[in-house]
Amino acid sequence: ERNKLKRLKTARSRTLDGISVDLHANIEVPADVAGALEAGAEGIGLFRTEFLFIGGGDMPSEDQQFEAYRKVARGMDGRPVTIRTFDLGNDKDPRPEENQFDRVKTNPALGLRAIRLSLAEPAMFQTQLRAILRASHYGKVKLLVPMLAHAQEIDQTLAAVEQAKSSLRGEKIPFDESMPVGGMIEIPAAALAVGLFLRRLDFLSIGTNDLIQYTLAIDRSDEEVSHLYDPLHPAVLMLLAHTISSAEKAGCPVSVCGELAGDVSMTRLLLGMGLRQFSMHPGQLLEVKQRVLMSNVADTAPLARRLLRCEEPAKIREQIERLNGL
Ligand code: PEP
Ligand code: MG
Repeated sequence: ERNKLKRLKTARSRTLDGISVDLHANIEVPADVAGALEAGAEGIGLFRTEFLFIGGGDMPSEDQQFEAYRKVARGMDGRPVTIRTFDLGNDKDPRPEENQFDRVKTNPALGLRAIRLSLAEPAMFQTQLRAILRASHYGKVKLLVPMLAHAQEIDQTLAAVEQAKSSLRGEKIPFDESMPVGGMIEIPAAALAVGLFLRRLDFLSIGTNDLIQYTLAIDRSDEEVSHLYDPLHPAVLMLLAHTISSAEKAGCPVSVCGELAGDVSMTRLLLGMGLRQFSMHPGQLLEVKQRVLMSNVADTAPLARRLLRCEEPAKIREQIERLNGL
């Protein structure tokens, strides 16, 4: 079975009715590029940069960051590489007990996390933005911002990017002037008021891991409530569908980069909702590709629409089975 999947590595990912679907990989360290390419990834849809803090070392310098980002940009050889700014302050914080940001409080998922922390630490943010911009000279780099909720946060981020660009220009350091800047949709408010994002950003990426956590008020790392963490909750599906269709109408690229994107039982539903870009753990990629190759959007779209009108969990599950049985 593994070998059969491996043969799909070079196959173009498109549906039976000829719709192209981008399958990208999520990576955590530069060494993961090899596995992404091995799986036939057409790009990196999410590069989680928190790895730079593994082991609890000091704040990584601009050059250290630049080297790491450039390694990935070069390794992907012209394919898109989406670098996400630090998502520190919550479950991915490598050393919560001795957090160097003493303002991270007791409810970190709702506290000074991700972009909120970056905006509160402008020196750290500038260092990272400069490093990412410098790497953009060596590949097709895109910048992705986690945990946005407010228009003002987007505006402040874009201003910070401008500041980093102008300092690099002053130093005659090359970078991609038109590096796209995108935002993660992982807070329900962002999904509901997605117009704020569409008007300001070049692309969107839906982080379903956090979107589910915040929509259902389920701590994603608390096993006591993990049975309530339900990607098929009608509220989650409504937010996903609304985000995808709004982006499509605005002509704005949108991907899903949470675990859902690598779950083959969800592939057809997401295709039916209009999703054309998925980013996942490289280990899932060929399986998802196989499902894409066996799907007909002309068939999945009407079933997805019908599913979205259901509210009862049993009905939703029944519709999912119909979709997957096509
Ligand atoms: C997400 O929240 O779905 C996501 C992709 O980001 P992370 O898992 O790194 O929080
Ligand atoms: Mg997230």
